[in-house]
Amino acid sequence: MNVVCITRYATRAILWVPAWYLQKGHAKPGISMSGAKLGKILMAHGSGGRLMHSLIDRVFRLHFADPELNQLADAAVMDGIRPRMAFTTDAFVVQPLQFPGGDIGKLAVCGTVNDLAASGAKPLYLSASFILEEGLEIALLEEIVISMAEVARSCGVRIVCGDTKVVGRGQCDQMFITTAGVGEVAVQYAELATGRLIRPGDHVILNGTLGDHGMAVLAARNHLGFYSDVESDCAPLNTMLTPLTEAGLNLRFMRDPTRGGLASVLCEIAEMSGFGIEVFETAIPVRNPVKAMCELFGFDVLHIANEGKMVIIAAPEDSERAISLLKQSPYGADAIRIGEVVDIHHRQVRMKTVIGGSRIISMPEGELLPRIC
Ligand code: MG
Repeated sequence: MNVVCITRYATRAILWVPAWYLQKGHAKPGISMSGAKLGKILMAHGSGGRLMHSLIDRVFRLHFADPELNQLADAAVMDGIRPRMAFTTDAFVVQPLQFPGGDIGKLAVCGTVNDLAASGAKPLYLSASFILEEGLEIALLEEIVISMAEVARSCGVRIVCGDTKVVGRGQCDQMFITTAGVGEVAVQYAELATGRLIRPGDHVILNGTLGDHGMAVLAARNHLGFYSDVESDCAPLNTMLTPLTEAGLNLRFMRDPTRGGLASVLCEIAEMSGFGIEVFETAIPVRNPVKAMCELFGFDVLHIANEGKMVIIAAPEDSERAISLLKQSPYGADAIRIGEVVDIHHRQVRMKTVIGGSRIISMPEGELLPRIC
């Protein structure tokens, strides 16, 4: 076969492959199957804010079209399996891999445990998949795996399966981890993850200070030594929440304010319930160094990621009891009622400010801190 022939075949192949791809019904570049213009993935699509929600709606929910997925809960409570099981998954890409108060492995276990706990489930089993970059120090991998094992033991979950893939240098950034988890849901809390139980008059409770995780990672990333006392709040919250569920408290909803912060979670609650949310700025606990860093960088602390916090919506008659039970855990020492579900300004979150004004709280629009978890 001469050079002309080879060139002709190669050219045909180059033309034929995209034609086959389009004939098979794959999306044309930049256009969705429904014909909508989608554009390209931006860092902000991973922020937990408005762009991420629109990506989920327009791509994943549209095509997976599953009633459980449509709930957009922290974990799916699987119908048809008895006892009821909750199932969740998460990917972790935080940079740097280790930071004050945690590392990517601890984050992976806590994130998955907390999503199960938020759904009223008792977390039981986890899987862990690792994507490792060629050249990664095995000693560093081992440190992270030990950290995962320790935190899993401390909160009573077992890591029972996993996978390891290695990619070439430069094809991932040191290490990415994906975890999945299952847990058992008590009959009483089977509806908790749906948001359908939320009523006006319910109290909004937060178990402690905001913004610690986001600012700890930011300080570690930028070597801001003068903020070295800011530590991530990364923690498994199932042990803190068990006394509430065991006491059979009338809980209406729970969600952990990770990416997108408290603002995103409150907006999601207002949206899913159809009611308004009112929060009091003076009640929201924030550590002084975190407050200072937010002022320095121009961040709204309500938009900053947390990894050891839970927003709990409780019936008013059980709210005091919930707070006192939370306070018995080291992760709930600063638990406080920060607001209320209201039957006005529906689907909107408003904050009573320190100076007595009122401001509308919305989801973050862009990407504040990429690769925060
Ligand atoms: Mg969550």
